[in-house]
Amino acid sequence: MISLTCPQCRKKMKPSHKNENRPFCSERCRVLDLGAWAEEGYKIASDEPLKNEDIEIIERLNVDPPKRH
Ligand SMILES: [Zn+2]
Repeated sequence: MISLTCPQCRKKMKPSHKNENRPFCSERCRVLDLGAWAEEGYKIASDEPLKNEDIEIIERLNVDPPKRH
């Protein structure tokens, strides 16, 4: 039996043609992974203003945007 492991939450799942979020198990994990990547980017380029699409991701993750001074 084939099973996939979600790279984000490590949950085992059955491969499904209905899953639009592969290789992730859910949209949540897909967005979380993207958010983790984006957060790294903010640390490096903290002077860059947040893009609307980035803010959208952060809001979907329900976390505070990085504080700027
Ligand atoms: Zn997952």
